[in-house]
Amino acid sequence: MTLLSINPANGHTIAEYKTHSQEKVDQLIADARTAFEDWRQVSLTDRSRVLSRAAEILKTNRESYALLMTREMGKPLSQSLGEIDKCADACRFYADKATEFLAPDMVMTEAPESFVCYEPLGVVLAVMPWNFPFWQVFRFAAPGLMAGNAGLLKHASNVSGCALAIENIFREAGLPDGLFSTLLIKSQDVERVIEHKSVSAVTLTGSGAAGASVASTAGKALKKSVLELGGSDAYVVLADADLDLAARICAKSRMNNNGQTCIAAKRLIVESGVKEEFEQKLLRQLENYQPGDPEQEQTNQGPMARTDLRDELHSQVEKSIAAGARCLLGGKVPDGPGSYYPATLLTDVDESMPAFHEELFGPVASVIAASDEEDAISKANNSEFGLGAAVFTSDIDRGRHIAAHRLEAGTCVVNDFVRSDPRLPFGGIKQSGYGRELSHFGIREFVNIKTVYSG
Ligand code: NAP
Repeated sequence: MTLLSINPANGHTIAEYKTHSQEKVDQLIADARTAFEDWRQVSLTDRSRVLSRAAEILKTNRESYALLMTREMGKPLSQSLGEIDKCADACRFYADKATEFLAPDMVMTEAPESFVCYEPLGVVLAVMPWNFPFWQVFRFAAPGLMAGNAGLLKHASNVSGCALAIENIFREAGLPDGLFSTLLIKSQDVERVIEHKSVSAVTLTGSGAAGASVASTAGKALKKSVLELGGSDAYVVLADADLDLAARICAKSRMNNNGQTCIAAKRLIVESGVKEEFEQKLLRQLENYQPGDPEQEQTNQGPMARTDLRDELHSQVEKSIAAGARCLLGGKVPDGPGSYYPATLLTDVDESMPAFHEELFGPVASVIAASDEEDAISKANNSEFGLGAAVFTSDIDRGRHIAAHRLEAGTCVVNDFVRSDPRLPFGGIKQSGYGRELSHFGIREFVNIKTVYSG
């Protein structure tokens, strides 16, 4: 069996990777476990040195990694370069901060000494998606390795080149042999890896279906899991908002990564009094996006990652239009090679449509009318997802109250777009998953929070 990397800009096969046999997978798991037993004894200072070297390797080779990513999944080159820089920053962040995040907490009890310390769990399997082929992996690996764990990466089948490049970065940076390996396997072989006695935990970033499957296997095996799943983020635009700012931010958030971002501005819920004006401003913003060759630095929109995903998105758009949505821009599959889809603007979207209650994982913005603030909040929360949300208003106190106490999501933002940042926890509620990545919350997901009570 093989895994194919296909350039979505032209449909050409870039590379074919032979999948690992069961014996090879077992060997890689055993190697990871052996390497873990040594790595857990390595000081945080020495682990930091390896992560800092990984950051340097990323910076030194940023152009070639960015090009690889763009070729495998179509991200515009300028955004691929930014993604590599973000990975280097995350490595440096955890290299600097892990000692503080993992320092024992002393607790006063009647014992002469009692404290909580953070010990690694063991071998952690990471099942990762193609949309941020480097960032998603480093977001798990930098804290996981600093905490003393070993990592096994099952990357999405269409980005095996990126997966192997990341393995090499850690090897070159000086990680012990076997501590971080890529498993070239299909998704149906993930269950067996989770069940393996030498694998301690699993983290998955991807769709709800994949998350449910991985979590149920982990649950049956009584192993820890973290899930970072899909989203349909609501951006609430209140009547007192700066509409130019709101339109600019909504377009940028929706179109980043060719629209394939879990935290994109997918449902734009706008107070009726300003809906038309906002729509016109948004339309002008979206018209600036022109699909083109993602390898050219000036291109701001490339193809979607795969043709099947493009076709699925188009069917969601067509069903929404059939149910009454109006299409103000795009909405047509272009002729020619590649899995391109144009920037698309739907309006008059309501609860009866896929554009409201499903995740549209591509460059499609959906405008939903709300009669007032209460109606807007209720529509924002009327979703099975809860990853991110934003509110636009010129009254900052009102915005902060809505973000903190009214919107149901893991990250809520006022007058800006939702993003991930190593300093802040990231993750969802409801069907968007559980657990947190990044910050000190992320590094503590895959540790044994151990109580030591010393009489
Ligand atoms: P996907 O189809 O769920 O794939 C994600 C990963 O899971 C891939 O490695 C895939 O392998 C594997 N997989 C799929 N089905 C599986 C199963 N039944 N058992 C075990 N592994 C399985 O998702 P995607 O299309 O790559 O990514 C898009 C989704 O990810 C969107 O819903 C997006 O919102 C979400 N996402 C969430 C976050 C977040 O932080 N919350 C970040 C990025 C993306 P194969 O490639 O071999 O199928």
